[in-house]
Amino acid sequence: MSTPRKAVSGLRRSVLDGKSRSAAKRGGGWKGSWRDRYDIPKAEEEDILLTRGAYENPDDVNEKTGELGLAHFHTCQMHGLKLKPKGPGSYLTARCNIDAKQQDCLACKAQAEGDRRVGLKPTFSFNIIHFGLYERVPLERDGRVVKYEDGENRGKPIMVWERVERPSDHKRIMKDLPTLIKNGSVCIFQKRYIEVGGGHRDDLAQIDAEAAKYCRCGGDLIPIRFSCEKCEEVLADVEEDDMGKKEVAAFAESRGKCKDCGHIGVPVPECTCSDCKRPSPLTAFDVVATVKKEGEGTNSHIVVKRITPLDQYRMLDNEYAIEFEKEGKDYFPKVEDDAWVFVEDMGLRKAATSQWNFEEVHAPKDHGFIAEKLGIRNPFPATEGKDKYKRYGGGGGKSDEDTRGGRGSSREDEPDDDDRRGPRSSRDEDDEPPRRRRERA
Ligand SMILES: [Zn+2]
Ligand SMILES: [Zn+2]
Ligand SMILES: [Zn+2]
Repeated sequence: MSTPRKAVSGLRRSVLDGKSRSAAKRGGGWKGSWRDRYDIPKAEEEDILLTRGAYENPDDVNEKTGELGLAHFHTCQMHGLKLKPKGPGSYLTARCNIDAKQQDCLACKAQAEGDRRVGLKPTFSFNIIHFGLYERVPLERDGRVVKYEDGENRGKPIMVWERVERPSDHKRIMKDLPTLIKNGSVCIFQKRYIEVGGGHRDDLAQIDAEAAKYCRCGGDLIPIRFSCEKCEEVLADVEEDDMGKKEVAAFAESRGKCKDCGHIGVPVPECTCSDCKRPSPLTAFDVVATVKKEGEGTNSHIVVKRITPLDQYRMLDNEYAIEFEKEGKDYFPKVEDDAWVFVEDMGLRKAATSQWNFEEVHAPKDHGFIAEKLGIRNPFPATEGKDKYKRYGGGGGKSDEDTRGGRGSSREDEPDDDDRRGPRSSRDEDDEPPRRRRERA
């Protein structure tokens, strides 16, 4: 027996079922800010888990109905502003205001008028869980503890989850880990997001391709044919087409156009399992990927060093991230709706099953802010929307979180992505809110 197609709904499959649509329509999700962004480092290998989402995909329009398909990642258009040749504050990214459904975009206007400092790139955002050691510490800015300026917590320090970087801190915490987790001062994962360009998005598809080689039962999957992810037309048959092992592997990862429906995507494999009669391939969301960034700037890649299925992955406290059920003498991962069930401990289930509201995370900047950065005149009236700065100075944060009480910011970015060009920069202006448009007489 071969894989039921329904089970193949991983990262590569851009078409999601209707069940997810209501979530996408609601536009809801966890509030977040640039602080929740996770940058895959070059220095070390890190463990991340992609988690499911449902976002309308502007690249997947139904020709008949005009309705957008859904994807697990969010897509938006981001301007890159190259402000200085190099150094701190030399590069800045800002959501295109028109892409965010506003009427005008000053960056677009500047770009159209030939300002070569301004670029525009598609940006893809994924929900992830980063497994690593985090400690709850007071937020500091310029060496000073930041406190709440108003509200019931007035005068109290704003607490944030910070990555434990120093080996000595790591050691200190690991000695006492169960207690520190219990009293809420240490966590062994955080819900984060990653933001990538087209090249790095394709790098991430590697996780899915690797995961799909394993069956949920623990066996290995052997592809017997490949079909179009949209119309299900058979694109290649391993036996009929006499495909060799290498050929099969290459075909499985190649993005191609379906001759039948014209859809461009990665072929969906149909497999047999070495161990069971009901093969069910793992998806990118079922495996912890150990990743690292390699290479510089436009030539950098997210490299997937290895994947570990969640039923084999142990967190820093030596526990599993998913639940198991006893059957006879053995334990098997608990399955609900074709997926493994996350443990509730430390809020992991909630973190892994909720999605960021990326429309909010990537809210566009005020025209005045862009005008000031580029040193140009802002011909547009003040940006509409009274709640424009709701996220800044007090609000924001996910549900009961107090970590984002600080002032939000324009993010100074490292254009260290496959398709962003520009020099590296620091984030010295991270904590400055965008300035309001200056009044002009
Ligand atoms: Zn724009
Ligand atoms: Zn097709
Ligand atoms: Zn199996």
